Amino acid sequence: MSRVELWGAPLYGDPCRECGFAWSISPQDAVAWVRDFEQHARVAVGSLTGDERLGGWSVAEYVSHVGDNLRHWSERVQAARLSGRTQVAGYDPDALGDARGYASIPLQVGLWSAGHAAQRWADVLGAALDEGVELQHVARGLQRAEDVARNNCHDAYHHLWDIRRIASASE
Ligand SMILES: [Zn+2]
Repeated sequence: MSRVELWGAPLYGDPCRECGFAWSISPQDAVAWVRDFEQHARVAVGSLTGDERLGGWSVAEYVSHVGDNLRHWSERVQAARLSGRTQVAGYDPDALGDARGYASIPLQVGLWSAGHAAQRWADVLGAALDEGVELQHVARGLQRAEDVARNNCHDAYHHLWDIRRIASASE
């Protein structure tokens, strides 16, 4: 048995040392927050063009990443719900970003796309919470629907913190 990869509160701190996300959030509240991701993101980006960056991804690239992360996890949870496939592995967000061409996706398109992904994710995770879906992650071990809800909510929340940080530096 390999060592379980640290994830969630043990990795980021509780609250997250960077973005302040509190892992005590109820999974239902996490789902509700993610459902409104597009509105949260529009507030965070304000009048930015999307091209601004601080060394890492640009504002628009962060938005595209959140959309893809939510799509990825929606599919993994649906695999358990619709096909009984509960094994799940990680993916390389940078490789996915290169393959999808995040750099060529305009901010307004990324917001629209991530908004759709967030709403579908919220539908799926809401149902998975009711059903008590459980996944087995190859590196993180047992991932219950409530773990996925909190983890994915943190990812989205944390990247809005990244975007606000970029916005502050751009003023
Ligand atoms: Zn965080």
